Amino acid sequence: MNLDTLPIAAIATAPGRGGIGVVRASGKNLKPLAQALFNGVELKPRHATYIPFKQADGTLIDQGIAIYFKGPHSYTGEDVLELQGHGGPVVLQMLLQRVLEAGHDVGLRLAEPGEFTRRAYMNDKLDLAQAEAVADLIDASTEAAAKSASQSLSGAFSQAIHALVERVTHLRMLVEATLDFPEEEIDFLEKSDARGQLRGIVESVDHVFRQASQGALLREGLNVVLVGQPNVGKSSLLNALAGADVAIVTPIAGTTRDKVSETIQIEGIPLNIIDTAGIRSHDEAVDIVERIGIERTWGEVGKADVILHMLDANHGPTRADESILAAFPAGVPVLRIWNKIDLSGHKPSIDASDDATHIYLSAHDHTGIDLLRKELLRIAGWQQTGESLYLARERHLIALKSTARHLDRAEEHAAQTDQSLDLFAEELRLAQVQLSTITGAFSSDDLLGVIFSRFCIGK
Ligand code: GDP
Ligand code: ZN
Repeated sequence: MNLDTLPIAAIATAPGRGGIGVVRASGKNLKPLAQALFNGVELKPRHATYIPFKQADGTLIDQGIAIYFKGPHSYTGEDVLELQGHGGPVVLQMLLQRVLEAGHDVGLRLAEPGEFTRRAYMNDKLDLAQAEAVADLIDASTEAAAKSASQSLSGAFSQAIHALVERVTHLRMLVEATLDFPEEEIDFLEKSDARGQLRGIVESVDHVFRQASQGALLREGLNVVLVGQPNVGKSSLLNALAGADVAIVTPIAGTTRDKVSETIQIEGIPLNIIDTAGIRSHDEAVDIVERIGIERTWGEVGKADVILHMLDANHGPTRADESILAAFPAGVPVLRIWNKIDLSGHKPSIDASDDATHIYLSAHDHTGIDLLRKELLRIAGWQQTGESLYLARERHLIALKSTARHLDRAEEHAAQTDQSLDLFAEELRLAQVQLSTITGAFSSDDLLGVIFSRFCIGK
């Protein structure tokens, strides 16, 4: 990751063709760049100017809108120049090349992935949790996920974390003040109700953790593997499950071309579904190409949170089912879906036995589908609280968990008769450090590198 502070430029819009495409530049002083590009015409900050984009020799590349944002009133906190032209890959490349060339003297270079957002973070326009929310909003696969990403982006999650940090800091100040006057240690806890304060903080951390882990579900979703013989009703089941919600079909990254995976949503939770139809177990593979395809699918299967084994309620399992199921990793919950009960005469029902949970339904008539939806949401750990959720990441959850652990230890120290205020204070300090990693006050360059390199170029 390049950490210099030279001006940067990139195409900001998605690759491909669109009505509009944007080339964006950011730097400490972009005035010379704008003047070189527009022949000395001065752009009024934050005003749209319709203007020709020209090569150095005067030939026309495109006509479009130029907007100049004078730092710090911009996304990155630096000067930002946005050129909105027509959204074709060739014309945008030409425009980008022209911008890089015009900025050559001031050291303008191509931006690295996430570098605009990284600069916004460096210049305090966003904290780390908000910067992550930018990526999450762009990547959101359901409306609910987008909603909680923008909740985090607006700073609601960061504010909740800041509020916790403030309460911990306040308590630390009390404890540390007392450490300076050892003779008063004994009744310190009673006088300031330190224990009560600590309890309150522990409960709030727990609450934020719940909101964050529910939000994380919206981000990660549930990995579902669908097993079943042809014609057992797998496609029908997916349609029934997606129900009235628009079934947003997004291929899982990396498997775009083999149509074995798709995403539907239940109550906003993305279900990443791997359909194993047509894949065979390892030993059955004939040629090398098929073998590679099978390996990859089985790799996906290894990430399963739940396996749906679909059966025909009229016939029961086949031998092919048995051989596929035998190959699944142990420990992943299996739901046996007995389909077509409209033909078999079973009643819609759910019951758990030792090896699996059995659900009787009809994908065709939509009877029993609600039982399956509820069971999937239960497995996912979804609780409908109606509260706002934060689209948290794994690292946020880990930090909140360690915060809770340090606070627990602080409580233990406080509960002992020969309490050690030193240890109590130290646990509070560690809790505060953990909380601060979420918003980035205590972040290493390594962490920043990991977070921002996952962005696309131009973000
Ligand atoms: P897949 O090959 O496993 O994806 O199965 P499909 O979803 O394509 O369904 C195969 C056939 O079974 C279709 O003709 C469906 O209409 C029919 N089917 C699916 N579910 C049911 C059901 O619950 N009851 C009845 N009677 N037919 C069903
Ligand atoms: Zn099908």
